[in-house]
Amino acid sequence: MSTMHDLIVIGGGINGATTALFAARGGMDVAVIDRGPLCREASGVNAGTLTMQMTRVALIPYALRAHHMWATAREWLGHDVGVVVCDGLSLAFTEQEAELLAFRAGKRREAGAPITLITGQQALQIEPGLSDKALLAGHCRVDGYANAYLTGLAFRTALLDAGVTLTENNPATDILQTSSGFEVVTKQGPLRAKRVVIAGGVWIEEMMGWLGIDLPIKTLVNQLAVTERIPTAMRTVVGIANGLLSLKQYPHGTVVIGGGWQGSGSREGGTCSLLPERLVGNIRLACHAVPALKDARLARAWTGFEAETRDALPAVGPVPGIHNAYVIGSIHSGYTSGPYLAKLLADQILGREPDLPLFPIDRLLKPEPLAQG
Ligand SMILES: Cc1cc2nc3c(=O)[nH]c(=O)nc-3n(C[C@H](O)[C@H](O)[C@H](O)COP(=O)(O)OP(=O)(O)OC[C@H]3O[C@@H](n4cnc5c(N)ncnc54)[C@H](O)[C@@H]3O)c2cc1C
Repeated sequence: MSTMHDLIVIGGGINGATTALFAARGGMDVAVIDRGPLCREASGVNAGTLTMQMTRVALIPYALRAHHMWATAREWLGHDVGVVVCDGLSLAFTEQEAELLAFRAGKRREAGAPITLITGQQALQIEPGLSDKALLAGHCRVDGYANAYLTGLAFRTALLDAGVTLTENNPATDILQTSSGFEVVTKQGPLRAKRVVIAGGVWIEEMMGWLGIDLPIKTLVNQLAVTERIPTAMRTVVGIANGLLSLKQYPHGTVVIGGGWQGSGSREGGTCSLLPERLVGNIRLACHAVPALKDARLARAWTGFEAETRDALPAVGPVPGIHNAYVIGSIHSGYTSGPYLAKLLADQILGREPDLPLFPIDRLLKPEPLAQG
């Protein structure tokens, strides 16, 4: 008979890995299963931006705390994920963008993000690499980025140090409810636990189906590109008011260009492809914001799956009607906010009162069809 764990986490992205880490440090016997290597889906291929200026208003209080966690990752994670804390600028080039920027910055400021509006000329003083065409900019001192590629490496070491049983390259295929908890069916055999956390990114919908719950999750296919190493062109994180650009230059000289331009593909097929015309649109915008990029060559471009719920707010909390089952995912700007929300979920699982409310999924479940007659 296999070990009865206190908790099994299915899906080792940033959300599953952080939940597992804090649950294990809270004294639980935890196992993590991933069908691939740890943090190699969204959590390993994302743009690494840790920003308030692209975070949804409702998530700002969480993102601010999560930003602090990233800034102090060496202390709680024990390993470096290349975090750089710097200023962030969100630009407006037209009157319409300026209006949008002022509105969004105002809402985020009300929620606690320290964003101030400055002129394009003031933005140029902060970031001399910028175009002189910006009319207005949102300026936030709580910004920065990490090197997402290092996430799996850092969490693997931290989880093993915390005594977590880690099974990579082992897809789960079903969850059975038993008298003592759950049996998770995996390719390498069943694993048993008193509690289960579903943390499968865009594959949460399929996993919730194993428990008989219909939780619709939309799949976004985000494109990203990186330049060759170039001389210093920028020192801040740069975006634009409508959110379709994110730019930062890593200390070794490459510039990562993103902004949520959509590629094609589906989670069912497991493959996604770049749409070159959109890549060109994204890069043109980048060169417009930071003109030195016109001289840079692209080194690589790629895509990744991002999950979104119907109301674009997270799915974090207990699974309704199933005692000791939990879900975490679909957090917008989820790399930024994920660690804090996962820590809150671990608190709830450990029987502690979370410092901020979770995002229970009851609101997202389809109502039962009305009985006929
Ligand atoms: C290209 C891109 C750029 C992004 N840029 C940013 C950014 O700059 N800043 C930001 O804050 N956010 C960004 N995001 C969003 C962020 O990356 C995600 O919100 C976050 O990483 C999601 O983490 P997760 O743990 O929920 O999901 P994932 O990282 O997708 O993890 C889910 C895990 O479940 C595993 N899994 C799936 N099926 C099974 C199965 N059957 N059995 C076992 N395991 C399974 C997968 O292998 C995977 O490891 C970006 C996303 C993408 C795709």
